[in-house]
Amino acid sequence: METAVLLRSSNKLIFNPRHYSPHNFFRLLSSSSISSSSLTPLNPHHASTVPDEVAEKYGFEKVSGEFIGECKSKAVLFKHKKTGAEVMSVSNDDENKVFGIVFRTPPKDSTGIPHILEHSVLCGSRKYPLKEPFVELLKGSLHTFLNAFTYPDRTCYPVASTNTKDFYNLVDVYLDAVFFPKCVEDYQTFQQEGWHFELNDPSEEISYKGVVFNEMKGVYSQPDNILGRAAQQASSPISNCFDFNHFCMQSVDYLDIPSCLSTIIHEYNFALFPDNTYGVDSGGDPKVIPKLTFEQFKEFHGKYYHPSNARIWFYGDDDPAERLRILSEYLDMFDASSAPNESRVEQQKLFSEPVRIIEKYSAGDGGDLKKKHMICLNWLLADKPLDMETELTLGFLDHLMLGTPASPLRKILLESGLGDAIVGGGIEDELLQPQFSIGLKGVFEEDIQKVEELVMSTLKKLKEEGFETEAVEASMNTIEFSLRENNTGSFPRGLSLMLRSISKWIYDMNPFEPLKYEKPLMALKARIAEEGSKAAFSPLIEKFILNNPHCVTVEMQPDPEKASHDEAAEREILEKVKASMTEEDLAELARATQELRLKQETPDPPEALRSVPSLILRDIPKEPIHVGDINGVKVLKHDLFTNDVLYAEIVFNMRSLKQELLPLVPLFCQSLLEMGTKDLTFVQLNQLIGRKTGGISVYPFTSSVRGREDPCSHIVVRGKAMAGRVEDLFNLVNCVLQEVRFTDQQRFKQFVSQSKARMENRLRGSGHGIAAARMDAKLNVAGWISEQMGGVSYLEFLKALEKRVDQDWAGVSSSLEEIRISLLSKNGCLINMTADGKNLTNSEKYVSKFLDLLPSKSSVEAAAWNAQLSPGNEAIVIPTQVNYVGKAANIYDTGYKLHGSAYVISKYISNTWLWDRVRVSGGAYGGFCDFDTHSGVFSFLSYRDPNLLKTLDVYDGSGAFLRELEMDNDTLTKAIIGTIGDVDSYQLADAKGYSSLLRYLLGITEEERQKRREEILSTSLKDFKEFGEVIEAVKDKGVSVVVASPEDVDAANKERSNYFDVKKAL
Ligand SMILES: [Zn+2]
Repeated sequence: METAVLLRSSNKLIFNPRHYSPHNFFRLLSSSSISSSSLTPLNPHHASTVPDEVAEKYGFEKVSGEFIGECKSKAVLFKHKKTGAEVMSVSNDDENKVFGIVFRTPPKDSTGIPHILEHSVLCGSRKYPLKEPFVELLKGSLHTFLNAFTYPDRTCYPVASTNTKDFYNLVDVYLDAVFFPKCVEDYQTFQQEGWHFELNDPSEEISYKGVVFNEMKGVYSQPDNILGRAAQQASSPISNCFDFNHFCMQSVDYLDIPSCLSTIIHEYNFALFPDNTYGVDSGGDPKVIPKLTFEQFKEFHGKYYHPSNARIWFYGDDDPAERLRILSEYLDMFDASSAPNESRVEQQKLFSEPVRIIEKYSAGDGGDLKKKHMICLNWLLADKPLDMETELTLGFLDHLMLGTPASPLRKILLESGLGDAIVGGGIEDELLQPQFSIGLKGVFEEDIQKVEELVMSTLKKLKEEGFETEAVEASMNTIEFSLRENNTGSFPRGLSLMLRSISKWIYDMNPFEPLKYEKPLMALKARIAEEGSKAAFSPLIEKFILNNPHCVTVEMQPDPEKASHDEAAEREILEKVKASMTEEDLAELARATQELRLKQETPDPPEALRSVPSLILRDIPKEPIHVGDINGVKVLKHDLFTNDVLYAEIVFNMRSLKQELLPLVPLFCQSLLEMGTKDLTFVQLNQLIGRKTGGISVYPFTSSVRGREDPCSHIVVRGKAMAGRVEDLFNLVNCVLQEVRFTDQQRFKQFVSQSKARMENRLRGSGHGIAAARMDAKLNVAGWISEQMGGVSYLEFLKALEKRVDQDWAGVSSSLEEIRISLLSKNGCLINMTADGKNLTNSEKYVSKFLDLLPSKSSVEAAAWNAQLSPGNEAIVIPTQVNYVGKAANIYDTGYKLHGSAYVISKYISNTWLWDRVRVSGGAYGGFCDFDTHSGVFSFLSYRDPNLLKTLDVYDGSGAFLRELEMDNDTLTKAIIGTIGDVDSYQLADAKGYSSLLRYLLGITEEERQKRREEILSTSLKDFKEFGEVIEAVKDKGVSVVVASPEDVDAANKERSNYFDVKKAL
């Protein structure tokens, strides 16, 4: 369910790294889906520079500088003379300022030091000596980005804000954190964030706890991750950070790991890189993490978190001299070190022979295990970094082979019927040496070899025959459109540039080069025009893949016993640990466990909290919206600067659809774009879209509407194009909607298998989303609809549909047609457009023509839906080592009327009560609450959680927590500022236009938004206490859904007499 409309207390703990990190130069730019955002005008004349004598005064020398046309920025590289720290200072008039400090942190083993350190340094520092400055910043700053990333060989600390004062506050907190963190003196932070033995009572069993330990257990519970790790493709586990303790514990190593451990440990093999740092997991292998000592941890920080080993990035419209002044305060305190030599990443030499490895992963015993194998081929492309032009050509090649559903390698693999979905990310060029990976999952064991042969024969064929001219044109246009549009969605532009620059700079290469695409792009275009595309691409396929012996083939076999074996092995280790301890040891461990918990649960003193800077409150401008009509259809227009791009949404009402057709809607949307028409194959249709537009997407949107029984339920067609191509855009949208034929049974069957594979993956990796959807479905109609199209019900539907496609294709095909007939109508259609005024006016004639072609119906009647899921508590059982725990109720049913303070309060509960109890002392990776202000559903959720009933008890304690809460004014102000920053988050123009559309659909007026803002700003402690009563409804009447392991559900049902109905999902 999309709900960026007013705001839900968004969960900042959970980021999917692959979402954000621009692994491939083009990956982020060339995604065919359309994410929210657009352009700010950048005026090169605004970019100011630092005079040499000013740089000199602060201890810097200018190394080089240039104007970079591609991002309309003046960029200067400085070197700090005393330490050698390097600084890229990028100036332009983008108000969304970005700072980042990056250290080279290559690990030598899989204990996860870089990752645990990344969590720990933000747990308090010299100037900000509180438990969790990071959380305080989350609560009380206007940041547009705040996080930290661990890569296989580097650690990045980026922040962004549009407010200059806020920006410099954030920079100071981050600099102090990385250079002077408390965690290097504080064993308890290491225990909490890394790992420790937990023993509540000497008579009980010892267990492992630790935030990173548990986070990585979750990562290792997903077969796709294990597969990727086997070849080191999944580059960046991301996380943000937490808690610290300022008392120092004496007996640091009082519990050293017994030696028996090392014999049991089996480290995952990162087989593509046996000889360098990429052969180990910087995120940490849960089996190896407990080998890490506090001494090693401290030493790692001392060595690598040093200015000599740092690369620092500033970007935006602030004063570049001020940047150097701030940095000099920190950097001048250090002398040069030898870290740059020690942190250098060595190259992996190429193999002379291919390698094959076989891994097992834990699969549930449900379903057909025979068809659960995975196979992936991985190549290391070169033994040194490539030049820009080769890299760019490889980026194109990647898009040509795999970028769209019409791309031949993707298409041939999926159409072969040998597997359910693609694995392997294509070309990855973010590490020192580029790689290429491709494979399939959902494969029969006996078909493994066929997949390998098909990959090879397809690559050979592509090398010999080259690509179609239309395909090359489409890829070229798609990539160019993306580069020029530079639409990074909610990800700050300056951060996307930083990550791109760093991908070379970190290896001592030129940081400017990756920012400049214009020249190599023109050169490549000219070359293709002159010599043909085959001359450009075939030699690359031959050299880097076909004739390259450095290939690692990874096969993954499902093992229904593995999860229980792993757990037994862990228990055995822990039992040995316990057996080796004396009675005094055990008493000491129980005492230490108690002490750690007590410290975690004790709030910071107010004077420490005041050390974290925060802001005063401000007002927010309104967005322009004009509501008119064309041919009797309502048209919303947003006059905003978009650099000559038109963004359009065409919305159809879904309310008239028959109930049994609802779960087919996502596949209907996919079919529109990927099945072809009478005149065009789907490949040709995709190429046309690629050549003429910036992309078209189709998806359902469903939400409750406050105060209304009936939900808002639509299908949205989103498209974008350059102003000169608007006619093409609307023609293509019309073609997609009206001319696509639902006749290709085999293709449709692939869609079903892919969707099934995707849903199974979500169940393991984002179980909290599945649990939330399930609870919503039990509580309101909109939730029920969404669950039909994306929850456990949907997965069940897909399993049945897979058979139905074979048995009754004619029936399925006519159901798809029925959806089209029921949807497509001028009545119930709405158009939304975002561009500048001139382009909006010019577009009207094409809209009018488009609408003329739509059928008219007398009226759109709402269908009767029996939208109810059985209301009881439910456990969705899957093979996993970590759980997702949810509980929810509709608080509007208690008579509660929405008030802006609810935003502040639910965010506060997430950042304090749940953070402390579910994450810090519970050991889960995340815990948060969410208030859907449209439906009234208030839900609690946890993520990668070792507990189950214990977490539910924490949720139930939230009401009491609020009622007994005491807080001073500073804390309250901070909570309010943090919330206002969410409500008025930074958006590029197309996202503004889109949010405005959603508000329109949900009946939220500008007046109401203003009223909520005022309520947020005037939130008082009394509101908190009263809300404590309101959410007692969740405790008393709430429904609980968990996604969890069979063992934990069993134990819970024994402890609380069959609390959960059990549903086996995998
Ligand atoms: Zn993490």
